[in-house]
Order: sequence, then C-alpha cells, then structure tokens
Amino acid sequence: MSTLKAVRGTRDLLPPETALWNRIEATARSVFGRYNFGEIRTPIFEDTSLFARGVGEETDIVSKEMYTWEDRARAQSEKSQMLTLRPENTAGVVRAYIEHKLGETGQLQKLYYIGPQFRRERPQKGRYRQFFQVGAEVIGPQSAGSESPLRDAEVLEMLATLLDELGITGWMLHLNSVGSSADRERYNQALREALVPVQDKMCVDCQRRAVTNPLRVLDCKVPEDQPIIETLPKIADSLDEESKEHFAAVTAALDAAGVPYTRNYRLVRGLDYYTRTTFEFTHGGLGAQNALLGGGRYDGLSEAIGGPKAPGIGFAIGLDRLVLTLQSQAGDAPVAAVKVDAYIAPMADAKDAEKLKTINAAGLALARELRRAGLSIELGEGSFRLKKSFDAADKTARRIVILGEDELQSGILTVKDFSSGVQTKVPRAELAALLAG
Ligand code: AMP
Repeated sequence: MSTLKAVRGTRDLLPPETALWNRIEATARSVFGRYNFGEIRTPIFEDTSLFARGVGEETDIVSKEMYTWEDRARAQSEKSQMLTLRPENTAGVVRAYIEHKLGETGQLQKLYYIGPQFRRERPQKGRYRQFFQVGAEVIGPQSAGSESPLRDAEVLEMLATLLDELGITGWMLHLNSVGSSADRERYNQALREALVPVQDKMCVDCQRRAVTNPLRVLDCKVPEDQPIIETLPKIADSLDEESKEHFAAVTAALDAAGVPYTRNYRLVRGLDYYTRTTFEFTHGGLGAQNALLGGGRYDGLSEAIGGPKAPGIGFAIGLDRLVLTLQSQAGDAPVAAVKVDAYIAPMADAKDAEKLKTINAAGLALARELRRAGLSIELGEGSFRLKKSFDAADKTARRIVILGEDELQSGILTVKDFSSGVQTKVPRAELAALLAG
C-alpha cells in the first residue's frame, strides 16, 4: 500500500517550529489589543456567492483558485448549495458585520482574525494551498468616521509596530490609491483605450484582461510585458480631488508618525473590492513571493454583498511568510527545543510488577504536584534502566529527579542538574522551590 502524505500544497507544522508560530500569534494579539481590536472567528466555509460577489468574479482567486463543492441536501427541508473553503477572510468578516447588524451600534468595528485560508495556487516556497493569515478590519457607518484617512494611517502604523515588535527588519511599505469606484471606472476606460494598440503583443492573460478587467493587467509578472505596462496611464492621473485629498491626508499622518513608505503606482492588488488606499509590505528575504501582507480600503464591499453602506479598511498578513522571514533572519541555526524544568525518573525492578505499579503511580502523583506548582515536567517510566532514564532526561530536561523505593519511603529525593553537574538531596516539600530556581 502506498503511504499517505499531506496533500500537495498543505503541510504539517511540528514542534519546535510551532513555538515560533505561537510567539507570532501572541505578539499580534498583544499589539491588536493595544489598538482596541477584538477577535472574530468566522466559519471556514461559506456560500460560494459570497466570494463571487465580494472578491470579484474576474479575480484569479475566484476564477481559478477556490475549493468549491456542491453540498448535497441531507433532508427534504434542506436545499443543496454551493460552498467554498474561504480563500480570504474579509468577505466573511463583512458578511458577519451585516448579519449581526454591527453597524447599528453606531461604533467603528475593529476586528481581527487568525486562521487558515485556501487557494488552489501553484505551490512553491512561501505559497501554499492551505496557508494562514492574521488580519484585521476597521469597518462601520460613515458617521463613526470609517471613511477617515486617519483610520488608514492608524492601521498602517499598527502594522509597522507589529513588524517591529516581531523583530522583522528591512520591511518596505508600498502605498497607492486606486481611487473611488468612479475613479477606477475612469481609469479602467483609459487603460482599455491605451491597451487596444498594444494588447496583441502581450501575454494571453493580459489579452483577456484587457477586455474583461484592464486593471488586472497591472498585476502581470510576465517579463516581456513589463516595458509595455510601463507606458500605460497611471491611476494617480485618474483620481478626482476627493481621492487625492484622502490620499494626501494618509501620507501626511504617516509622515507625522514617522512611518516610512514608497509610492507604487502599480499596486492595484488581486481583489476587486479595494477603493482608495491599497498597500503591501514586502521583505527582501522572501524571494519571489516577497509580499508579507497586503490590504486596503473597501468602501463599497458591504453594499456589494447586500449590506448597508459601511466603509472599511483592512489587511491580511501571511503568517507562513512571517515565519519564513524570521527564520531567514535567524540564519540556518535550527530552532532549539525548549527544555522542561525536570524529568522525573521513577525507578523499580522491571520484573516486579507490583513495585513497578507503585513507583509509576508515585511518579504521576509527584509530577502532578510539581506541574500544579507551575513547573514543566516530563515523566519517565519505572521499567527503564538508570542509564536509559538519564539519556532521556538529558535530551528533554534541565534536571533529573530520581524517585526510587528509598526516595519514596524517606521523602528525600535525588536531583541532578545537567548544566552544573551538581547532584543534591532534597526533601520533597522543598523540591518545587528548588526546581523553580
Ligand atoms: P491577499 O489575501 O491575496 O491580499 O494576501 C495577503 C497576504 O497573504 C499575502 O501578502 C501573503 O503574505 C499571504 N498569502 C496569500 N496567498 C498565499 C499563499 N497561497 N500561501 C502563503 N501565503 C499567502
């Protein structure tokens, strides 16, 4: 029988690497908490039409990459429906915002999420079919100030703080404005016209995009197309006064806060819902997939999926890529496994079943006592010979505690510290304090 493996594009995350994942997630929660964000958890699958309407039919995500299936009805009262594993989380958050009428609170909703997303992309380093995002959204009625450029700048400043606190050095913030939907319409028209004489010379994807969604031409990575794309009109020239002012206010606030950025006119991003501010943070250590995170403003998204007007701005960070970046910064040094405070080695004659049972039970009782005192403990096995216990302890723990029949009776335990080599005898009542040191 052939051995079963994790599906292409998915992977297992194992200790000790998962400790790094946990640290990143804990830092994100701590930073988001300081900016008064609360956590939201939405379902991993949603009605397919949420993404078709919310993300956009013509995007790569919706047209090629979604895991969609027909979920058959199980009862007469149910209908079959098309479901999709979420390829991103913003549409789900906005769906929840509408469903729970969060806009009626009159407050800005500041929500963050951490979880897996699914896209059928070609797997490579930093690109997986199941990957993890940490993201946040600021969304609310206009009266709550949800359209203010201050919100954009604050979100960007928060991201800069998060990356700094994680210890990621050398990140770059690329910033653009794709304008209002009217500006985009105008720009799309300008692009469409400019593409007519040149599109024959471009890749097949661009030829299709030139007709269906010219903005997406700017995402093209085909080297031969780049000189042509450089000659196309820039979106900055299609922005109306309001959009220009909005963008100028975002950059003024970033300047005041001392957050560095570069303008990138081609940053239109792969999702259709963006309006005005769009951004990406990149890192040189990532190679071809150099985007650490991306996001932007989506003032029309709620209405596009049937909700009230609810302007918003958000981002999604690729957690897999944060991990890769931190690992590449640390060099190739393997992540050291953290050692527990002590290894308890129950010792009994393996041939005496009664004694073995007693000493193992006593081992569990001692481990329970110490763990409840806050210590990290590995519990050995009474049938191991002394050398085997020492070898196992040395690999996992800073100290070994011997618990043989004599120790059990006298209540005096033998402790050996592996780093100093010192062996001590200590009364059971003082053991926890000694191990905590
Ligand atoms: P997006 O939702 O496409 O705006 O992506 C936001 C961020 O998620 C990107 O900047 C990446 O860091 C990460 N990301 C997107 N797709 C993948 C993928 N297939 N594998 C790993 N990370 C991804």
